Amino acid sequence: MKIAIMGAMPEEIAPILEQLGEYTTTQYAGNNYYEASYKGVELVIAYSKIGKVFSTLTSATMIEHFGAQKLLFSGVAGAISPTLKVGDLLVATKLSQHDLDITAFGHPFGYVPEGAVYVEADRELITLSQKVALSMNKTLQEGIIATGDQFVANEERKNWIGTTFGADALEMEGASVAVVCDALNVPFFILRAISDAADMDASFSFDAFLETSAKESAAFVMKMVDAIIEQNV
Ligand code: SAH
Repeated sequence: MKIAIMGAMPEEIAPILEQLGEYTTTQYAGNNYYEASYKGVELVIAYSKIGKVFSTLTSATMIEHFGAQKLLFSGVAGAISPTLKVGDLLVATKLSQHDLDITAFGHPFGYVPEGAVYVEADRELITLSQKVALSMNKTLQEGIIATGDQFVANEERKNWIGTTFGADALEMEGASVAVVCDALNVPFFILRAISDAADMDASFSFDAFLETSAKESAAFVMKMVDAIIEQNV
């Protein structure tokens, strides 16, 4: 089995590469892909660079070129739900693109013909993640993630995204990765640790908590890999 572990920024995959210690590096399509054997499975790891386009390229490459059969995303996000605080973990149940807008033609936000407003994440991996959370004595919230090519640092925009999509958190890569995995029939799991509240203090909070929140998320994703291997999911 080959599992992809993906982030958007170097900080999001650094803890994973550090834990693995040894890996090979392959350059492909303008990016580095790190490969390692781990407890009898193959891992391919990469950070895509920020945003929907780069994350689409990287996730598709991990599947089509490197042969990944499952994809786990680890990263940070801005909170919309007031129950999410910095450092808290959220797994996406479904994802939407908040900046996709052809509403002028009478379509809902996030929709284009032959697409869907939401892409559902893999239920089996979410169920497994709750077992992992229990074994780590951690709380893992489930919720909707909204994705767009914007760093949201604005209460009004954040609230609009929350209301329009019922979203609990927002970030810049999840929904595009979801579209790719869904189209290619690869089960996927999008995990985010909160780095900020997408409000006017967001960039300061992000800078202060990126590293610690990215580590929280990465540690959990590696426990997910262990659980996938142990429970043969
Ligand atoms: N500090 C970076 C830019 C970070 S962009 C630089 O200067 O280069 C924010 C990244 O974290 C994206 O990958 C996104 O997925 C996630 N993220 C965290 N908080 C966010 C927010 N409030 N709005 C949008 N994305 C957010």
